Amino acid sequence: MTDDLRRTDDFRTAARTAAELVSDYLEGLPARPVWQPMDDAERQALLDLELPEHGAPLEELLKTVGERIMSAPMGNGNQRFFGWVNSAPQPAGVLATLAASAMNPSSAGGDHADVHLERAVVRWIAELVGFPHPAGGGLLTSGTSMATIVCLAAARNRAARAAGWDVREDGLAGMPPLVGYVTGETHSCVRKAAELLGLGSRNLRTVATDAEGHLDLDALAAAVAEDRAAGRLPFLVVASAGTVGTGAVDPFEPIADLAEREGLWLHVDGAYGAFGVLDETIAHRYAGMERADSLALDPHKWLGVPVDCGCALVRDAEELRGTFSLVPSYLRDEAAGSLGWFSEYGTEQTRPFRSLKVWASIAHRGRAGVAADIAHTTALARRLGELVEADPELELIAPVETSIVAFRYAPAGIEENRLNTVNKELPVAVQLRGEVFVTGALHRGREMIRACLLNATTTEADLHLLLSEVRSAGSELTDIYREVTGDS
Ligand SMILES: *Cc1c(COP(=O)(O)O)cnc(C)c1O
Repeated sequence: MTDDLRRTDDFRTAARTAAELVSDYLEGLPARPVWQPMDDAERQALLDLELPEHGAPLEELLKTVGERIMSAPMGNGNQRFFGWVNSAPQPAGVLATLAASAMNPSSAGGDHADVHLERAVVRWIAELVGFPHPAGGGLLTSGTSMATIVCLAAARNRAARAAGWDVREDGLAGMPPLVGYVTGETHSCVRKAAELLGLGSRNLRTVATDAEGHLDLDALAAAVAEDRAAGRLPFLVVASAGTVGTGAVDPFEPIADLAEREGLWLHVDGAYGAFGVLDETIAHRYAGMERADSLALDPHKWLGVPVDCGCALVRDAEELRGTFSLVPSYLRDEAAGSLGWFSEYGTEQTRPFRSLKVWASIAHRGRAGVAADIAHTTALARRLGELVEADPELELIAPVETSIVAFRYAPAGIEENRLNTVNKELPVAVQLRGEVFVTGALHRGREMIRACLLNATTTEADLHLLLSEVRSAGSELTDIYREVTGDS
């Protein structure tokens, strides 16, 4: 047997072991604590891991993975994980990841399956959320943070061009400031993008919202008028298809009307919530989303595509290409056809084969299956909202519009400061108990708990468990403060 053949043989055996390991892991998730802090010694051992001088066999590496890595997960594979916006992986996507890495192409461009599959799945994503899809009008990214940079770069360049400026050639120096509009609920990635793109975060104005966290149209119109009067150049409004705090969906129709009137680029952040449009019960909230100039969204959230996978969709593909295309002679490719390379539409040159896990995660369920999963989680979220409202010790903080439930522990007779302290510490206290995992956030000055439902295997019993864990941990924390302060 040649060395090469022996290596292949080893690989096949190890691949079978790996398949068992991964299957056992996924199967065992429901029976173990959702999350546990790492053992101090184990954590330190990982941090101090020494660079090995000599190699080890695949089987030995797999043993390490099973015993020392897969034993300490983040918890998001579990159906009782409600933290942040992190989903369980679609099993079909897990398998696709292995095949994609075996092929290991660079999906920058060229004539190989991965490139064409990406064009198809980007179109699928657009079709799922009902966004227009001109050829070339989008690409997969590492996440919505990157998709936002991609979209806002195109918005910035269009606005500068309209003002007689070539940003690619001259930069922004000397231009009147380009001004964008967000709300207090807008995700921080928008500010990060504005800073990176040289717009300056002070030129991102925070517009007021209504009591439920939706962008206030009158406030937006007034801010635009004020900036124009001062000689600044309003160019962008960012609306949310599901805010990260409470899952609120902005009113797209009137925002799109105003953007059209004022010549603003309408960017929709649909990272978490855009796929909610697949649930017929709440689809009406999304009316007008398709009028945006760009939409950033995350297949690695509600669709369960294994991390990482974001997506940028744009109405005008040429605007994107005009922003990023820089084709040196060694990368020119006549075979790529008129659309050119993906690397002409975004920041990355060498690009991972993300489309296979997207394809698998959607194709395994079909459009109907994906829609049913989304509808299941929004229905659970509404149910959780009802349970919270019916519970005298709990308080719903915002209406349940998508699949995020914002609430707090608020038994009668505890003053506001104390409630804030207790609710701030509550998520970690709940996490440490290991039964469910939930995170918190500060919302309009109040500490709250934020349960995000993304997992279609979650049941109503899991919701009851979540609330009983919150109540128990809440009452323990309240008792501790009583003891510390001597309150009765
Ligand atoms: C997660 C999220 C983002 C950031 O997306 P990443 O994929 O983490 O880069 C932006 N906006 C919202 C509403 C999000 O939920």
